[in-house]
Amino acid sequence: MRDSSLPDLGVGLIGTGFMGRAHAMAFHNARSTFELPVNLRLAALADADAARAEQCARAWGFDRSHAHWQQLINDPSVDLVAITTPNHLHFPMAMAALEAGKAVYCEKPLAVSLDQARQMQSAAKAAGVVTRVGYNYQHNPIIGLARQMIANGELGQIVSFQGEFSEDFMANAQSPWSWRCEPAHAGGALADLGSHLLAMARYLLGDVEAVCADSQTVHRQRPATQGGQEQRQIAIDDQTYALLRFANGARGTFASSWLKHGYKNHLSFEISGTKGTLAFDQERLNELQLYRAGAPGRDGFQRILAGPSQPGYAAFCPAPGHQLGYNELKTLEVHALIQALCGQGNEGPDFAEAMHIERLAAAIRIAAREMRWVTVSDI
Ligand code: NAD
Repeated sequence: MRDSSLPDLGVGLIGTGFMGRAHAMAFHNARSTFELPVNLRLAALADADAARAEQCARAWGFDRSHAHWQQLINDPSVDLVAITTPNHLHFPMAMAALEAGKAVYCEKPLAVSLDQARQMQSAAKAAGVVTRVGYNYQHNPIIGLARQMIANGELGQIVSFQGEFSEDFMANAQSPWSWRCEPAHAGGALADLGSHLLAMARYLLGDVEAVCADSQTVHRQRPATQGGQEQRQIAIDDQTYALLRFANGARGTFASSWLKHGYKNHLSFEISGTKGTLAFDQERLNELQLYRAGAPGRDGFQRILAGPSQPGYAAFCPAPGHQLGYNELKTLEVHALIQALCGQGNEGPDFAEAMHIERLAAAIRIAAREMRWVTVSDI
């Protein structure tokens, strides 16, 4: 029921695929999980497939659907534009929304090039509106704890970061072409998966100063369609590896692959300092492994389970160890966005931070192509 003492916030969602559904769920869940400082209205839904937009709008509780995304952006009932389309559409959609003075919640990666990302950042700054980018994994309450432990010095001085984001959804050479295979659509393992890992590395340890890297396309052609005979040439990276030199002096490794059999959502890191080590794997997203140095004979990794003492968790469940899931992270992301829109917080990566992530990814691409170390501030 609408609370007349609160302002309205109309959400316009573009896209009804994997992320479109996740965003729709997150907006619904945010309403039922948190006491929001706004009346969150699901105002409009758009998709290139107009019939699907209409059907999903009905099923997901949106007031109306639009056949064209430009209509959604011009819809006066839309205050916030959520973009969940393939990567090459983020730029035109976000720029149009910013031009219209609307807040933007865009899926990752921000753009298909560093140049686009820079333009988006400038436009967001000029528009003076709230922007957020879907690096949802850092909204995990237990990642918040990891960040706090690192910042508090509980691991001592950080010396190393060993990060990996691997999945296996493209491991089979017969997995067909999709927009994720197009360089012009920011395809490839680095943009698709690695961008999440770069976001996480920056969130936990700050700036990366320099990188060297190697990339490889393993499957140089794939069927144009599932089970079809026609083949398409593929030129994006199936796997990318890098060495990272952090501004805080730590050294690190980066790995992203969508070919690694057995891994479904292996966004993982081991961070070591002079006093201990923290390890995390998104496939077990409610757990941190902590090792503290200095207990000879009785030492070993300690398992820390997610629980209500970590900010965000208690909104879903009062008891520790009962486990959050992917969609709860998305709900926390939406909650942080709404708080930012209401001037009640500043959590979550905006277009400026996402541009830094794009710059780091661009440095890794240059380093791999030119087989050399690249200083990130040089590009
Ligand atoms: P998808 O292919 O499942 O969905 C894309 C949607 O965009 C479809 O509904 C399609 O009809 C719609 N679309 C395409 N062109 C359009 C247009 N011109 N106008 C309106 N709608 C259009 O893709 P996805 O897996 O949902 O990925 C979408 C975005 O989300 C990508 O940027 C991807 O990188 C990102 N993503 C993020 C995460 C995450 O964990 N944050 C996970 C998966 C995907």
